[in-house]
Amino acid sequence: MKVLKFGGTSVANAQNIKLVLNIVNKKAANEKLVIVVSALSKVTDMLLIASKKAAAGDESFKVTLTEIEKKHLEILKELIPVSEQSSLLSHVKRIVNHLETLLDGCYLLGELSLRTSDTILSFGELLSSYIFAEALKQNLKNSSYKDSRELIKTNSNFGKAAVNFEITNELINDFFASNEDQVVVIPGFIAASIDGINTTLGRGGSDYTAAIIAGALHANELQIWTDVNGMFTANPKVVKQAQPIAFISYQEAMELSHFGAKVLYPPTIQPVLRKNIPILIKNTFEPEAEGTYISNQEMANTNPVKGISHIDKITLITLEGSGMIGVSGSSKRLFEVLSTQNINVIFITQASSEHSICIGILNADAAVAEEAINNAFEVEIAQNKIDPCIVERNLCIIALVGENMKNHQGLSGRMFSTLGKNNVNIRAIAQGASERNISAVINEKDVKKALNTLHENFFEENTKQLNLFVMGVGNVGEKFIEQIHQQKKFLKENLKINLRVIALSNSKKMYFDEEGIALKEWQFLLETGEAADKEKFIANVIELNLRNSIFVDITANESISKVYEHFLKRNIAVVTCNKIACASEYDNYKKLKKLSQQFNAPFLFETNVGAGLPIIDTVKNLVASGDKVNKIQAVLSGSLNFIFNNFDENNTFHDVVKEAGAQGFTEPDPKIDLSGIDVARKILILIRESGYKMEIDEITNESFMPAECLETTTNEAFFESLKEHASHFEAIYQEALSKDSRLKYVAQFENGVANVSLRFIPKDHPFYNLEGKDNIVLFFTDRYIDQPLLIKGAGAGAAVTASGIFADVIRIGNI
Ligand code: ADP
Ligand code: ASP
Ligand code: MG
Repeated sequence: MKVLKFGGTSVANAQNIKLVLNIVNKKAANEKLVIVVSALSKVTDMLLIASKKAAAGDESFKVTLTEIEKKHLEILKELIPVSEQSSLLSHVKRIVNHLETLLDGCYLLGELSLRTSDTILSFGELLSSYIFAEALKQNLKNSSYKDSRELIKTNSNFGKAAVNFEITNELINDFFASNEDQVVVIPGFIAASIDGINTTLGRGGSDYTAAIIAGALHANELQIWTDVNGMFTANPKVVKQAQPIAFISYQEAMELSHFGAKVLYPPTIQPVLRKNIPILIKNTFEPEAEGTYISNQEMANTNPVKGISHIDKITLITLEGSGMIGVSGSSKRLFEVLSTQNINVIFITQASSEHSICIGILNADAAVAEEAINNAFEVEIAQNKIDPCIVERNLCIIALVGENMKNHQGLSGRMFSTLGKNNVNIRAIAQGASERNISAVINEKDVKKALNTLHENFFEENTKQLNLFVMGVGNVGEKFIEQIHQQKKFLKENLKINLRVIALSNSKKMYFDEEGIALKEWQFLLETGEAADKEKFIANVIELNLRNSIFVDITANESISKVYEHFLKRNIAVVTCNKIACASEYDNYKKLKKLSQQFNAPFLFETNVGAGLPIIDTVKNLVASGDKVNKIQAVLSGSLNFIFNNFDENNTFHDVVKEAGAQGFTEPDPKIDLSGIDVARKILILIRESGYKMEIDEITNESFMPAECLETTTNEAFFESLKEHASHFEAIYQEALSKDSRLKYVAQFENGVANVSLRFIPKDHPFYNLEGKDNIVLFFTDRYIDQPLLIKGAGAGAAVTASGIFADVIRIGNI
């Protein structure tokens, strides 16, 4: 014999019930079955609402009641042939009338005791099981119905009654000994006290009903049919990557369900565990899926962590004070108070001295608990020996569960460092003596991030999800997105990095998709987005609170450079090609670096100097390994190099600058390049990264540009001025020719002094042959004395800059 329980969604409507009937009909061909059914999905909640409304004098309980009636009548009509409907419909109406009388009673009396509440809630299962049993009889004549209140006897702890197994087992065995039917249908969740009053087994209790019957009858299997493919490695509604667990021990399943895996009501395990009856969790909507098999079989060589579960709406109550030290029995008194108030303690930690005890309970119990505890310790509180209890609401418990965890070292370290890296603050920690679970209390707002990072770390072969928020999708941004789109699969398969772009924004629009933007149509999606709003963008990024969030600034905008600190402070990494922040006041640059360290949020800006060339990374490595940079000589402007390499007898200075702009080598405002400011910012950043303190105005900038050109306020006027001053540029070119040298815009730092200027470079100099838009940097250090460390290559262009930004993102992925 097998006992099969079908949950609320499995019997939510006629269509689903037909799937269940199919499953039952097939299985009944081979063996006897007991079918336990829950109330239709949401009906228990509706009954609860209706009864609370009635007791509060709110007449709208009648609307809810009508809805409940309609739901059941409609289902019955769909499942039963018209010719047989009338007596069944009247029966359902009679049940609903009875329910109405009770609700009217609550309304008139203005009260709802737990005892009455149990009777009202029992109607959900009474209705569903009656309709189900009648529908089953249509095909299976030798099936019948049995009211569980006649089989399961409990104490009078209404709301969550305790089963009297001695009487219950006997009743169940007596009934089935004389029952010949192939299938017996039984309502879940409801029971009766010894003196015949309705009780319930607690919310989610239909699973328990099935387990009680399976245990009593020594069934060969208990099957829990629900709406997911088994017990998952984490709640599949919160963690998309969660997977069903094929095999799990009773103890592990019990821990997971105790810590919130709702798929199984925690007390369910006990009656079957004693008899060694396996539990199979199956999906009504995907019956071919394997499901989860719960038994006492030892599973060797499996992941030591079986699953991660969580309970939300938790309150932590801390009781502490010098008066508790060494005084035995404080904790006994605390737990007695809570037990008297019927408050379930989910989590406990205690310092060894008993100086402080911390317990986790449901938010709903917090007010009562606080008052009861403060009353119980009134005397000690008045004498200042104990502080009034500290109450922290809206927390969440997360727990790692696994039988084999005790045999593996470092799991808790891994758990807490994973959380720490993601800035998830841990309020309390507990580890079961069985070492089957490690649990932590965190803030409710962090729960999604915490579960997903932990899941990633323990179950996804170390795949790391990176969530990008990209601001600025011009030339470089566009290339960056194309590169991500193209490399996404490779990164996932080879580097185990799952890159997702969550937000895109240009100056007009912004678009967010928490599940990751479909990059093949990003342009279209961005067009459909809302109006760009910097403040809102920041608020959204913070609100989403996704793990490994990275803000990518691909603008040249000063106001954007000012938002980095908001992100860093929230453990959101910043990757930027915008030089303004790092070239701003030294104190600001230092502050950002400090925040990055303090909040464990990378701040990377490799593309600030030399586009995609690994220049900043190299300086960092030199400094970190103890070298000292003494001198830097560099050509750092790809655009100026392009300009001076192409400026000759055949091309005017004006035309060459125009061409550089057209090819995307200059800044949006070309004066930034031509004035030397851009180069000054770059050398400043290298100087600072080398460990020196310097401000931008300490760098001598000997401009080769006529002042009039630099004073223009629009690009148009600027280009016009280049034409007007053609002879000035011509003269510079002729001077270079006469000196048999080439023009290069050089940045130099030596002995604490820096300057940028246009120079005549002779043939034997390493800069002479610098082609196209290339950059070159020479680092003279304590270790590179005569022969400097030289880095050379393309130093401007959308594609190389994009790949430099990409490299920074990957660096974060590899941390
Ligand atoms: P039923 O009505 O069938 O009893 P429940 O809603 O009580 O179903 O339980 C199934 C639900 O439990 C799933 O839909 C899922 O949202 C939730 N759940 C939470 N944690 C887990 C987990 N670890 N594995 C599977 N389901 C889980
Ligand atoms: N119907 C009850 C509830 O919603 C019992 C169950 O579904 O298991 O809690
Ligand atoms: Mg359930």
